[in-house]
Amino acid sequence: MSLPGHVSHLVVGAGFAGVCTAIKLAEDGETDFAVIEQASDVGGTWRDNTYPGACCDVPSQLYSLSFAPNPEWSSSYSPQPEIQAYLQKVAREAGILDRFHFDTPMTDARWDDAAQVWRVSTPSGEVTATTLTNCSGGLSAPRLPDIEGLDGFAGEIFHSARWDHDADLTGKRVAVIGTGASAIQIVPEVQKVAGHLDVYQRSAPWVIPRNDRTYSRLERVALRHLPALRRLYRAGIYWSHEGYVPAFTWQPRLAAPAEKAALANLRKGIKDPALRAKATPHFRLGCKRVLRSNTYYPALAADNTDLVTDPIAGVTTDAIVTADGVEHPVDVIVVATGFHTTDLPIAEHIVGREGRSLAQVWADGGMAAYKGTTVHGFPNLFLVVGPNTGQGHTSMVFIIESQVAYLRDAIRAMRAHGLAQVEPRADAQARWNADVQKRMRRTVWNTGGCSSWYLDEHGRNTVLWPKSTVTFRRQLASFDPEAYDVRPAAAGRRGAEVSA
Ligand code: NAP
Repeated sequence: MSLPGHVSHLVVGAGFAGVCTAIKLAEDGETDFAVIEQASDVGGTWRDNTYPGACCDVPSQLYSLSFAPNPEWSSSYSPQPEIQAYLQKVAREAGILDRFHFDTPMTDARWDDAAQVWRVSTPSGEVTATTLTNCSGGLSAPRLPDIEGLDGFAGEIFHSARWDHDADLTGKRVAVIGTGASAIQIVPEVQKVAGHLDVYQRSAPWVIPRNDRTYSRLERVALRHLPALRRLYRAGIYWSHEGYVPAFTWQPRLAAPAEKAALANLRKGIKDPALRAKATPHFRLGCKRVLRSNTYYPALAADNTDLVTDPIAGVTTDAIVTADGVEHPVDVIVVATGFHTTDLPIAEHIVGREGRSLAQVWADGGMAAYKGTTVHGFPNLFLVVGPNTGQGHTSMVFIIESQVAYLRDAIRAMRAHGLAQVEPRADAQARWNADVQKRMRRTVWNTGGCSSWYLDEHGRNTVLWPKSTVTFRRQLASFDPEAYDVRPAAAGRRGAEVSA
């Protein structure tokens, strides 16, 4: 199917956010929209992250769209293939896939102020759109470490989000660089098959037990046939996770019981005191993402695993060299060093009203938006999972649905009032961000004694939301035109199409 020349609404990305946006636009009777996706399927991060052990560390009942419950989850924390299959099924059953253009990356997007449209370039041609919704995700661009010699490594090397399934790790000497959420799921799986495993740790994470269990047939039948029970169950999970908010955003000492549970998990998994000391975190729980695993510590303690804490000095053709001068021979390197989060590559390709890209605008003060969703200087641009919308304790799907509700209300307001252009005012955006950053000062992310990917080069946390998700949802419940500069469509211009 060829890309249309113009649509009222263009959505970029087909993960949870893109699928949710498309379903809700269709539900609102919007008939003129398209979704472009650089890969050849829906799924986003759940399509890309196929590493062994890939699993969600947020309970599945909550990590699903509220309007598309899935009573068939096999266990409380679903493995990646189930989440990917869920998203495919939801998109298919909603009947929206004919709107999706796969293998169609957005290479450039420029606001055309005269025509009041976004001009979006793709390898399949240009499409103009009245609104542009970026759903390309905050964890989609792998970050490779800047390690000398990495390019010259002669063995197999790949990022956790680009797993090479042709690489056979059986009996090999494998190195995993990183000890974040991806690495702690990978390490136990690799340890089972590798001849030898070196885990390169820069800082030890907090790892709490993962209370995973398989749902019985009876439970699944009950969840399928008793929607009230399903809703109650989901609400229970939601509120139990929300219970972390005071500890993370207000009084980090409240996380002491969770720290105790994590240290008990460490003692249970690792008996050797020297190894345990190396694996003990030195910052407050919550400062980085809290990890959940029952198998990570036992894998570190296994005979074929070494936890390497000396910094990596460089890589030769067949070894990793640490700062103490030791050469660690290796056949396969798994780079589990995370993603570009505060320097999103897509920001370089979205150019606003004044001819500057989002990346240029954000270069000085860091990423910033109004309500994490709209940006001054970028009319009719909506960012789902935008600045300061991230969560360290609960499901991003809740945030995505809140932002999509705001987008829908903005489109309704544009239609109702014949507006071709909405752009948050600079003062409204500045006030919003001043409040967010003021609230940030007390959070564990800023005071917990760690440096994390939540903080940008200026030390500002431009990734996470420092209040409860209830507050987020309430604040985005309806579009607020008083915070916006709005313009009607110029006579005969494309933009008028939104005010049909
Ligand atoms: P990450 O949390 O950013 O972890 C990257 C790891 O690599 C950290 O341990 C980091 O050390 C280390 N590292 C980075 N650069 C390094 C270098 N030059 N040398 C040595 N070590 C280096 O990345 P991730 O594990 O891929 O997880 C990213 C996010 O994805 C998570 O926070 C989470 O939001 C999401 N995720 C979710 C799930 C889930 O189950 N829902 C699973 C996987 C990922 P430092 O800690 O010292 O910086």
